[in-house]
Amino acid sequence: GRCVVAVDGPSGSGKSTVSRRLAVDLGARYLDTGAMYRAITWAVLRSGVDLTDAESVAKVAGEVDLRIGTDPRGYGVTADGVSVDREIRGPEVTRAVSAVAAVPAVRELLVARQREMIANSERIVIEGRDIGAVVAPDADLKVYLTASEAARAQRRSAEDAADVTVTAADLARRDRLDSTRKVNPLQQAPDAVVLDTTELGIDEVVVRLRELLNE
Ligand code: C5P
Repeated sequence: GRCVVAVDGPSGSGKSTVSRRLAVDLGARYLDTGAMYRAITWAVLRSGVDLTDAESVAKVAGEVDLRIGTDPRGYGVTADGVSVDREIRGPEVTRAVSAVAAVPAVRELLVARQREMIANSERIVIEGRDIGAVVAPDADLKVYLTASEAARAQRRSAEDAADVTVTAADLARRDRLDSTRKVNPLQQAPDAVVLDTTELGIDEVVVRLRELLNE
């Protein structure tokens, strides 16, 4: 039957790995909303508009042809026909994405796209920062993943092959911006199941979520 799972949490909390694995197990689609904000940010950087000029940022966001796959085993992201899978994980986009994601018109646009994709999917696991609270308040299961700052920085630096101190500083900065923005900040939905992944393995988290779903 129909099944919508919302997964939120800060960077490095294990969201992406857990969400993809759960989607594969459930035979569901998977939507990485962070990749959507990153692709818009890539287009904004390419356009050369000032990141602090919300109106220009919103204009670029409204004009870019953004496409994202939903296969949990591998999905591509394109912006105006250009494959941006590698670029959206790079340091320039990572540095700028929280500022772009704080622009209300950008969020309005992407939240509408995300809701449309949910409506068109029978089963979907969707991950981000505002999914349970804003994008999919009617989800069958809402999960909020946390982990210690040290564990989160460790995971991200291993993924990016980056220095752990630099990564820790970047995560702290991004989480602060994401939690304090005026529109749809990173938040725990009141009815979310909170799991701390600091000591839990991916398998344990996925098993726990499947139990909660009776799947
Ligand atoms: O999940 P990921 O680290 O790729 O997200 C990149 C950035 O996109 C976040 O730091 C946040 O600024 C933004 N984002 C958001 N809302 C979402 C998903 C991501 O604001 N639902």
